[in-house]
Amino acid sequence: MATFCLLILRSLKGVTKPLEIAFVTSADNYRTLPESPVEVAFVGRSNVGKSSLINSLANRKQLARVSKTPGRTQLINLFETPGGGTLVDLPGYGYAAVPGKIKRGWEKMIVGYLQEREELEMIFVLVDGLIGPTDLDLMMLEQLRDSNVAFTVVATKQDKVKSSKSATRRIELATACQIDAAEIVWTSVSTGLGIDQLRTLVNRCLNTNPNRR
Ligand code: GDP
Repeated sequence: MATFCLLILRSLKGVTKPLEIAFVTSADNYRTLPESPVEVAFVGRSNVGKSSLINSLANRKQLARVSKTPGRTQLINLFETPGGGTLVDLPGYGYAAVPGKIKRGWEKMIVGYLQEREELEMIFVLVDGLIGPTDLDLMMLEQLRDSNVAFTVVATKQDKVKSSKSATRRIELATACQIDAAEIVWTSVSTGLGIDQLRTLVNRCLNTNPNRR
């Protein structure tokens, strides 16, 4: 009875189940990653809100560490779902305080992963909803278009955008990313906006046939 009520409540409120993801491993090189039938990846510049968003998708506090010092998450982190699909947390790019050599190493690692990881079904590119895409974000989007990798732009921290500016901001962000405004998933971990939509998208990608590319 309790389960039934919960299901009714969920369907009324449109609340999806938190993603059941469990940490598997970290790697500093995409070539050493374990095999996976299908995976989705999250990428974005340091401090964009990636760890917070992954935690929110899973409804867990410390799954992906919300770093106090941006750029400290230098590894590829893998999370497994019960269906066998994998969620990949790629290192944040563009943290100014990191020496150039290390930065170039990370960037090479991310690009290598994107170009060579056959299992990759979808990459979620996180862009700060208030700040808009940085030059590095735009380079990332160009890279994905060149590599023919399916991507979804996720705008973070929507709660920071003034409601009077919200509509304009959506159009500006879409124009800068060269996509349709309706294709962007707007999120906020503070209000919960977009979390359901993103969970649904992730679930849909991870349940698809892995023999896509
Ligand atoms: P990461 O470096 O991309 O993993 O970013 P974090 O998840 O560590 O977040 C960076 C900062 O942004 C932290 O102070 C978070 O609390 C904050 N933050 C993340 N998401 C949101 C959001 O939706 N709204 C607001 N207001 N702050 C957020």
